[in-house]
Amino acid sequence: MSRVMKALIVGGGVAGPVAAMALRQAGIDSVVYEAYAGGADDAGAFLTFASNGLDALRTIDAHHLVLSEGFPTPRMTIQSGTGKHLGDVPNGGTLPDGTVSQTLKRADLYRALRDEAIRRGARVEYGKRLVDAETTPDGVVALFEDGTEAVGDLLIGADGIHSRVRRIIDPSAPGARYIPVLNIGGYARDVRVLGKPGSFRMIFGKQAFFGYAVHPSSEVWWFANPPRAEEPTRAELAAIGTEQWREILIDLFAGDASPAVEIIRSTPGKLAGWATYDLPSVPTWYRGSLVIIGDAAHATAPSSGQGASIAIEDAVVLARCLRDLPDFGQACAAYERLRRARVERIVAHGARTSNSKAAGPIARVLRDLMPLILKRVARGGSLAWMHDYHIAWDEQVA
Ligand SMILES: Cc1cc2nc3c(=O)[nH]c(=O)nc-3n(C[C@H](O)[C@H](O)[C@H](O)COP(=O)(O)OP(=O)(O)OC[C@H]3O[C@@H](n4cnc5c(N)ncnc54)[C@H](O)[C@@H]3O)c2cc1C
Repeated sequence: MSRVMKALIVGGGVAGPVAAMALRQAGIDSVVYEAYAGGADDAGAFLTFASNGLDALRTIDAHHLVLSEGFPTPRMTIQSGTGKHLGDVPNGGTLPDGTVSQTLKRADLYRALRDEAIRRGARVEYGKRLVDAETTPDGVVALFEDGTEAVGDLLIGADGIHSRVRRIIDPSAPGARYIPVLNIGGYARDVRVLGKPGSFRMIFGKQAFFGYAVHPSSEVWWFANPPRAEEPTRAELAAIGTEQWREILIDLFAGDASPAVEIIRSTPGKLAGWATYDLPSVPTWYRGSLVIIGDAAHATAPSSGQGASIAIEDAVVLARCLRDLPDFGQACAAYERLRRARVERIVAHGARTSNSKAAGPIARVLRDLMPLILKRVARGGSLAWMHDYHIAWDEQVA
């Protein structure tokens, strides 16, 4: 047993609640501190959960949460904006027992993970935005925006891509890197489109990328990636209202042989766009009694379909290292040794996929290469390194 008995976890998104459950399984208590008061706003955000993420959740017996909230999406059909079929490929891997990747709303994933962490005995405190933390001879003191403090043996920063903990560990740590496409999505009703539940249709439109999948309820879950060379501010994005977004998107997709325009027209509720980022390499993951996991340490472009899965892997691997190694420094060194090469390879892969969605000459070359890339993927095995990762929870970390 490690000397660590109580962990402060900053961030109640994906990695935070999973860390709380994995630590509990390793015999370590924790409290999760989440900046926001309630659950996440969905705003059309859904994500695809790959087989490696499901396998990592299975080590803490929590994979059923994703299986019950999501629907299976094991295939992808790719086409050009002219309607040309470019290929069919697997999406997100398959576990040995046949379990395939799942697509679910981000807000549902957050809620399910938090509820389960609480059910298993973790405490989650809302409205607690971390502003600073100090390593002390006995552990760590966390300071929150509301003036309160918390004391623990260690602090795990699971506070996402714009992490405060990353900067507390290393004030010169890199910030997120802007990827020149925006993200926007929604759920369309009463629209008939090609495609059965279980398959994403990805369209390299003439001006922008569009993807959709049919939910078993026959709702159409879609997303679009309008190119945008300059990074927008939050205020600029917030100033674009739903009807303005609808016009922008209809304009972008009007020239494509795809159902994008009809899907966008059939989407009720609010449309909101957000900027896309990744974070390729953070030199320092831990210092004193502080360590970072998930997007705080490495963020991959959404197009890799891996961010949530590798955040979960981090949380489980860190808990295993803390369980088996005698002190925090050794546990963090083992965690970094087990994780860095893998996550940085996935981020690089995500960046390449994102470039193929952006407008411009690089994108055109990548798009033209798409049939060759697809053939390679279809031959199988080329993404096995990503999807077949397994955490040997029962084995001792050396
Ligand atoms: C458009 C889009 C599409 C995506 N699609 C996919 C996909 O298909 N598949 C996939 O696997 N991944 C996808 N991702 C990535 C995925 O959402 C992230 O990788 C994942 O959520 C990372 O989990 P995390 O816990 O590290 O960070 P987050 O989920 O971002 O959670 C961080 C939490 O920390 C809280 N927080 C932040 N600062 C503080 C603070 N100072 N104090 C206290 N709390 C704080 C935040 O409120 C938040 O709840 C997508 C991301 C985007 C933006």
